[in-house]
Amino acid sequence: MPESFKEKRKRILAMIRRLRKAYPDLGCALTHANPLELLVAVILSAQCTDARVDKVTPALFKKYKTAADYAGADLQELQEVIRSTGFYQNKAKNIQGAARRILEQFGGEVPRTMEELLSLPGVGRKTANVVLGNAFDVPGMAVDTHMIRLNNRLDLTRQLDPVKIEAELTQLVPEKDWTDYSHLMITHGRSRCFARKPDCANCEILLLCPRRGVKEPLQPKTTVKPLIPR
Ligand code: SF4
Repeated sequence: MPESFKEKRKRILAMIRRLRKAYPDLGCALTHANPLELLVAVILSAQCTDARVDKVTPALFKKYKTAADYAGADLQELQEVIRSTGFYQNKAKNIQGAARRILEQFGGEVPRTMEELLSLPGVGRKTANVVLGNAFDVPGMAVDTHMIRLNNRLDLTRQLDPVKIEAELTQLVPEKDWTDYSHLMITHGRSRCFARKPDCANCEILLLCPRRGVKEPLQPKTTVKPLIPR
């Protein structure tokens, strides 16, 4: 029998409880002090680790403090500061383009709605959701590569397209938990549910996970009985 919507939701709530216990210090991994810094950090984090972004942003945020600073920046200077995050020419162009639009259309303040955020160059749904959830406390379901992998293994989606996954998960996960859910999944993906060789034997949500598509067998020492069929 396929799992019903109600059963899925129950499983999700149990997962959230267990993962909150496992990762009590939940939050955005990117260091920032205001919405503009977060927006810039998220743009820089594309194809780059958060740790690398956090190495670059102290100098960047010291040099450029406002949308006007980025808007009027010398593009090559900006590129040099962010070079080590990769794709720096494109990222610099997007940061400057976003800053100019923020200045011209939104009075110098990062906008607070999905629609307005999506109108900024270089800002897709994932970036917009991270900014909404972490800068403005507006629930945001940010779907990155960890979210795609984990939610497929958990059989909460069979989609690979982030927009479709976001649409499905926002139905299943209570709205107040959207931001935390993304953080929990991303943290769990980094610390346990690796792309290669997930550490299922020690996984906090093993009993709630069908391990869809996971090829590695569970280690023999694992004797737990799953709560849902595998
Ligand atoms: S049981 Fe394995 S596949 Fe499922 S969430 Fe845990 S680590 Fe990932």
